[in-house]
Amino acid sequence: MNWRSFLTTLLIGMAILIPAALLSVRLDLNFGGLKVKQAAGEQFKKELRDTAVFPAGNGETAEKPGTETERQPTAGHEERQPRREPAEQPGHQEEPTEQPEKHSRVVYLTFDDGPNTVTTPQILDILKRHGVKATFFVTGRNARLNPGVLRRIREEGHAIGNHSYCHDYAAYRDQAAFASDLELAAEAIEAVTGTRPVLYRPPGGTANLNHVCREILAERGYRIAGWNVSSADTDPHGVTPEQLINNVLEGVARVSRKGAPAVILMHDGAQTGGHPAPGTPGYIYVKNREADVAALPVIIRTLKEQGFTFSTLAE
Ligand SMILES: [Zn+2]
Repeated sequence: MNWRSFLTTLLIGMAILIPAALLSVRLDLNFGGLKVKQAAGEQFKKELRDTAVFPAGNGETAEKPGTETERQPTAGHEERQPRREPAEQPGHQEEPTEQPEKHSRVVYLTFDDGPNTVTTPQILDILKRHGVKATFFVTGRNARLNPGVLRRIREEGHAIGNHSYCHDYAAYRDQAAFASDLELAAEAIEAVTGTRPVLYRPPGGTANLNHVCREILAERGYRIAGWNVSSADTDPHGVTPEQLINNVLEGVARVSRKGAPAVILMHDGAQTGGHPAPGTPGYIYVKNREADVAALPVIIRTLKEQGFTFSTLAE
């Protein structure tokens, strides 16, 4: 072999060996990389196994909005808090979405002590706007004072009940006083509407009625109308619209859970006048009526969304 052929062989050999060696290194690196990746994958899978448990295993935490994406997996949680699907967690659904009893989806809005020229027209406007009928328990005194408002109540299809003439609890103690107060109120209402009322709501509630009063009412063909949901809108310390809304919605939910229709007590209220000083009972009374007006649209909208329909106690 001469030097020329030796050099040629050497070059050919190098041309083959060097790329092969380089390729080998690369392959090794590649495999090494794969090994790293595989190791990472195993670790990832292990981590996944260890943490694929909802750490917030108790329903109270899980119910709070926003916690779903804020949960941070914590090692060891799975031992104390096994994974549970939300449906398996008791107490999640406080309210059934459907009521079995059809009649429990009826509510009766009732407004007492009017009619007056301030709040009653506002309440009538709201009821008209929402296409809802209600029952107004009016006093004979306010019927005489505001016949135009009472006429409007009748013309707009609401029911009207007798709520005494004077709204004086003293009448319960005297049979003759009770009977004459009842009759005066009936006459005052009939003089405006042309119809004698058949519903009677005793001022202060049915607990005020003794057996004598009940007999008098029965003789005259009255149906006694109480309530089972109070808005507590006569709170002497004042009530906010929010409190009023909560009182009514919670009350309706409670009553309808038992399968009964809800009769909601609110007040359009007696005629008021002047400018009572802040903090006085008169001032709080006016503020409470404003709360009634502010709360009513929300109450109607929410109950409608919940599938309730509105009716009058005369139906
Ligand atoms: Zn009353």
